[in-house]
Amino acid sequence: MKRLIALLSGLALILIFGTAFAAGGKVTDPTGTAPDRYVYYPGTEALAKDEIRIIACGTGMPAARRSQAATCFLVETGNGDKFIFDIGSGSMANLAALMIPYQYLDKVFLTHLHTDHMGDIDALWAGGWTAGRPNALRVWGPSGARPDMGTKYAMDNFLKHANWDYMTRAVMISPTPGGIETTEFDYKEVNQVVYQENGVTIRSIPAIHAGDGPVSYILEYNGMKVVIGGDTFPNKWFIKYAKDADLAIHECFMDPEMFVKYYNQPPQLAWRACCAFHTSGPAFGKVMSEIQPRHAVAYHFLNEEGTRYALYEEVRSTYSGPLSMATDMMVWNITRDEITERMAVSPEEAWAVPGEAVQPPPEKGRPTEYTPYILQGRWDEETQKAQKELLDKHMNKYNLQDQDWRKQMMKKK
Ligand SMILES: [Zn+2]
Ligand SMILES: [Zn+2]
Repeated sequence: MKRLIALLSGLALILIFGTAFAAGGKVTDPTGTAPDRYVYYPGTEALAKDEIRIIACGTGMPAARRSQAATCFLVETGNGDKFIFDIGSGSMANLAALMIPYQYLDKVFLTHLHTDHMGDIDALWAGGWTAGRPNALRVWGPSGARPDMGTKYAMDNFLKHANWDYMTRAVMISPTPGGIETTEFDYKEVNQVVYQENGVTIRSIPAIHAGDGPVSYILEYNGMKVVIGGDTFPNKWFIKYAKDADLAIHECFMDPEMFVKYYNQPPQLAWRACCAFHTSGPAFGKVMSEIQPRHAVAYHFLNEEGTRYALYEEVRSTYSGPLSMATDMMVWNITRDEITERMAVSPEEAWAVPGEAVQPPPEKGRPTEYTPYILQGRWDEETQKAQKELLDKHMNKYNLQDQDWRKQMMKKK
């Protein structure tokens, strides 16, 4: 239902804003198919070598809601790589709905450390760990003005906060995929390379938002350039380095009145939020007019009936080029010839399908996190009798020899 609503609102946006580049073609045969329509069905289209696909998995606000999670963009390059730019609160459900095995969802680039840009790191970390990611999660992110304001501090302390989770899963599964390998880079560096592998280069530029630390990213692949702007007031680095991007994603905040009306903010705060450490609609338009991307993407606003038209008009007061007013599950395909915008549609039940990766086995000799006191409370005999047939069948099917864990549990330690 949610997908249907997303699809319909996407269609409404497309019809109203006329930004649908994918729509079109003619149905020439009543038994045939409709060409070039608005829909992307995840898992059904191989990317061409010279193609990039970007999917908005979160476009909303810190107060995440079903129709819009907080910031997250998945960028897929034609060489098979996948990069997650921000993993805001609520975005994992959208990311999972793309039906991509977790083994490929292991690279995260954080623009900054507000939770609406990294709040679902827990769901990616533990979800991938329990569902097939064989290696540690890799996280890139900026330093801060002090060590305790940097990405390394955030990730190390995330693991501390999740210590019970880590210690208990590390016994059951394998500690390796439960690790986080953090690459922290200097937020002040301009156009520095933070990632370069298999023909993909990712650079960072500083952003200006709420304090020192935030950055934006520029991804280049096969002669194409995608810019993923983190939260920022319009800044001169973006103007310079996002120039001529194929796709330029930049925040676009609602105006102060909308924040008062829809977001319960006092007028003073609404003014600051909109226009002092974020980018307003007219300012967004001005930035895009300056950098002239092939296609501009506005996000980070409540995309709904009460807001979208006025905000669109605000953007259009300063920018007349190609534009998407992003909502969750919007998809852009980029080649040198064409940029299309569609909506990804998948069932509510869809999630990361199994891949082929094999996780490392549990660590031999790693002690359980149980004490004998708790273990002696197991209602063992009756339970084992009840599930014996089910378990024996499983053990036989997979020829499982190593039953140490089961035996150990049954011994009541
Ligand atoms: Zn922020
Ligand atoms: Zn934000």
